[in-house]
Amino acid sequence: MAERTLHGTGATPRSGVGSVVWYGRDISLLDPDGVEVDPETEIERFADAVDTARTELESEREATAERVGEDEAAVFDAHIQFLEDPTIEDAVETMVSEGLPAPNAVDAAFGEHIEQFEGMDGRMAERADDLRDVRDRLLRLLTDGERVDLGDLPEGSVVLAERLTPSDTAQLDPERVAGFATVTGGRTSHAAIFARSLALPAVVGVGDALESVEGEEEVVIDGDSGKVVVSPDDTERAAAASDSGAAVVDESVETTDGRHVEVAANVGRPAELDSAAERGADGVGLYRTEFLFLDRETPPSEDEQYEAVREALDTFPDGRVVVRTLDIGGDKRIPYLDLPEEGNPFLGERGIRRSLNPDSDLFATQLRALLRAGADGAGDLAIMFPLVATIEELEAALDTLDAAAAEVGGHDADAVAPEVGVMIETPSAAFMADELAARVDFLSIGTNDLTQYVMAADRENERVDDLHDPTHPGVLRAIHRTVTAAHAEDAWVGMCGEMAGDPALTELLVGLGLDELSMSAVTIPEVKTAVSETEYSAASERGDRARLAATRSEVHTTVDT
Ligand code: PEP
Ligand code: MG
Repeated sequence: MAERTLHGTGATPRSGVGSVVWYGRDISLLDPDGVEVDPETEIERFADAVDTARTELESEREATAERVGEDEAAVFDAHIQFLEDPTIEDAVETMVSEGLPAPNAVDAAFGEHIEQFEGMDGRMAERADDLRDVRDRLLRLLTDGERVDLGDLPEGSVVLAERLTPSDTAQLDPERVAGFATVTGGRTSHAAIFARSLALPAVVGVGDALESVEGEEEVVIDGDSGKVVVSPDDTERAAAASDSGAAVVDESVETTDGRHVEVAANVGRPAELDSAAERGADGVGLYRTEFLFLDRETPPSEDEQYEAVREALDTFPDGRVVVRTLDIGGDKRIPYLDLPEEGNPFLGERGIRRSLNPDSDLFATQLRALLRAGADGAGDLAIMFPLVATIEELEAALDTLDAAAAEVGGHDADAVAPEVGVMIETPSAAFMADELAARVDFLSIGTNDLTQYVMAADRENERVDDLHDPTHPGVLRAIHRTVTAAHAEDAWVGMCGEMAGDPALTELLVGLGLDELSMSAVTIPEVKTAVSETEYSAASERGDRARLAATRSEVHTTVDT
């Protein structure tokens, strides 16, 4: 076939080349009209399919736990629960007894539930993906459909799919898979985030044009430009095959004039720790602990949280691990925590607001787990509070931390005292950075939320994408203000929003005075290289010019020259 190029959204700035394996739902249902159905046989077939699906899920769970980690494996527990959901089972049986063949009844019963979840926000909407996954598994078993085993693909496979669910992505082995592309999905979809954390070339949201690519055709996945090149020429093939990104820099880096900048990783799941270490991270600059609370029925115990944090500290025995306390609300929802329905959840009960009330028990448990983990063994723990807007919130959080330290450390609370910091994500925190910095060891700028609130532009809404850009001078001035305030109080200041991982902005951020940059593992080598090629004194002048610019285009002229 002749070469052709399809366009989507690049999810990881990496390219890969390989042979197409299509993965997905390839099941046609019978037209139930005029079909003779024996309800008893159909109910038996359904029960057998549920049994087989359970066995498959249990073995996939075990294999994923071994290969990737317990957290990723937990998604299969959720699937087993959906599989055994009595409401769905009753609905299937009722429809079968009314004359529908079992596959059609499964499709209809799951369809109703899927629709309900699709109408909800954020994480709840992801449950719709889990339900689709379970439905498709049952349909495959009921219709003798074949399904590709994602955990056992030939080396050099490129997976193409309508969509990849959380359990699908958890099975992909980066050693064997050269990349993936999906018909649906955006940069913040679960599949895209997973690809970034494992540096897997990926393009999402290609649209129906992707369906024209045949199995076994050779394709290049260019996750930087968002292109899928079918039947590439030799030059494109060679360029993609040799793209392993910048060389990994294991040692810590400084600018040409000797200013040290820490380059750390953002992680959310234990499996991402190895990927971060392999890409030369100095430590962890943001551990999003809310991931430990997802895909399960009850919160993780103090001991489970202790183990997860110990694993991070053991991965970076000579580095710092900044653990952010539970940050839910907004777009992050956890079904069992019964979050309120809010008209504007991004301006509602989020982050530290929930930890102080109503999740104060969870907060105290988490702090005990962190303090215990920090006191045992290697690695330097730092604790960070999300979405702080007032000094009162910080002081209440510090009081809870003191109480937890007294419980854990007995008389010697100092023995378990890690560094403590605050995220700068609200305009109020940026304005109050001096007062905040006077009370803590460090500040870390969360530009994803800070940009959203400074620019009044929803981080999830592509219609205001142009405004949700941290290089607007309004955001740069908030960053500069924060850095100056922190340094005046002898606190260090980092950045853990997505902005920190863009190598094109490294010089600007170093020039603005950031001491630490923390990012998804994939661009750590590029950012480390960019730091070591930066001259701090020149970057600092340029940083001043950028923040004093009047428009974003002036900022870009300054950064690019
Ligand atoms: C941020 O807001 O920049 C941040 C790092 O936090 P999250 O993306 O988890 O909200
Ligand atoms: Mg945030």
